[in-house]
Amino acid sequence: MPYYDYVCSDCNSKFEIKRCISEIDDPTACPECHGEHVARQVSRVAAFGHSSGGEISSLGGGGGGCGSCGGGSCGTCGSSRN
Ligand SMILES: [Zn+2]
Repeated sequence: MPYYDYVCSDCNSKFEIKRCISEIDDPTACPECHGEHVARQVSRVAAFGHSSGGEISSLGGGGGGCGSCGGGSCGTCGSSRN
C-alpha cells in the first residue's frame, strides 16, 4: 500500500498517509490542526525509479566509464548500465 503526500491549506503542514489507491481522494484531516482543507500532492511513487545515475561510480571503481571511453559512451558502458 503506497504512501501519499498531503498538504494542509490551513496550517501549511505536510504529511503523508498510507492508504489504498481507491481512497486517495477521500477527505482526510490534518494531523496538526485537524482541519479538513487538505490537498493531495503529486505522489512520490510516480518519481520512483527516476535515478540520476548516482550508482554508476560503483561499477567502474570510481573511474567513471569502463576505462576505454572514460565517459560511459561506449558499448561496454552502455551494456553495463542498461
Ligand atoms: Zn493543518
